[in-house]
Amino acid sequence: MAESPFAMQPYQGIPTFGRRPLSSDARDSDVAILGIPYDGATSYRSGARFGPRSIREASLLLWGYNNVLQVAPFDALRIIDAGDVDVVPPDQQATQDAIAVAARRILDAGAKVIALGGDHSVTLPLLRAQAALNGPLAVVHFDSHPDTWDAEFGGQRYSHGTTFRRAIEEGLIDTSAYFQVGIRGPTAGPEDYADARRLGARMITIDEAMSRGMPAVAEEIARVIGTKPTYLSLDIDAVDPAFAPGTGTPEPGGLTSYQMLQLVRGTVGLAIVGADLVEVAPPYDHAQITSILAANLIFEMLSVLALRRHPPR
Ligand code: MN
Ligand code: MN
Repeated sequence: MAESPFAMQPYQGIPTFGRRPLSSDARDSDVAILGIPYDGATSYRSGARFGPRSIREASLLLWGYNNVLQVAPFDALRIIDAGDVDVVPPDQQATQDAIAVAARRILDAGAKVIALGGDHSVTLPLLRAQAALNGPLAVVHFDSHPDTWDAEFGGQRYSHGTTFRRAIEEGLIDTSAYFQVGIRGPTAGPEDYADARRLGARMITIDEAMSRGMPAVAEEIARVIGTKPTYLSLDIDAVDPAFAPGTGTPEPGGLTSYQMLQLVRGTVGLAIVGADLVEVAPPYDHAQITSILAANLIFEMLSVLALRRHPPR
């Protein structure tokens, strides 16, 4: 790739995330980008299996320097693109196991995982791999849905809508430091939100977030979580479908792109051990706006990690 003098043109060559080297060996790396092209656990519109590919393509537009956080994450961190997990489309359990194995391999090599979904079911095996290393995690979960349902489709306990209930049941989440941000939209009944709160979630609905403002939300998250090992899980449907239409279960009345960027930047200072960005479904996208936003949100996550590793003097 390097032989062409035009290799840095964003429309040339084969896309890895941010043009980072493709490698399955995470030793000597700080962060590995891991694609998880799986959408077999969606409850409505599928298509998130095409998310990783589309986010990688949109990432080619990223320039290197973050002017808000004042850091160049691609220089400050050794970042690889670890490719995609070998998912098994008709077998969710086999897929979850494959995700956990892939994540664990990266973690054991000493790097952090930033995963590109895929639907939100992929977060459960990622949390399993991460909690095996760190114990129960503080979690900042951006979403329009609480994803704490007990079952979908009758008795199906594993779907993209049950991830966080299963994670709490499995002891993967420190529920004294579990935030849900952006929750909104109609549900089956009043018990859906009550259930999430009863399980321990600090639910910041979209109304609360909008009335208090993003800096106040970020301040509360920082104050409550403190120095605990923290996992970020960002469901792109936290963002309003006017800004992120490419997703399977859109809910109007959400965050703007700018507010979502503010919230991710607001995690600077947290001890982030891993992150994912899920539910980007390119078949419903227009002009790549959802994938471009997703790539930029990953860039902000990398910037936050870079500042933690190389704090400004
Ligand atoms: Mn959602
Ligand atoms: Mn979700």
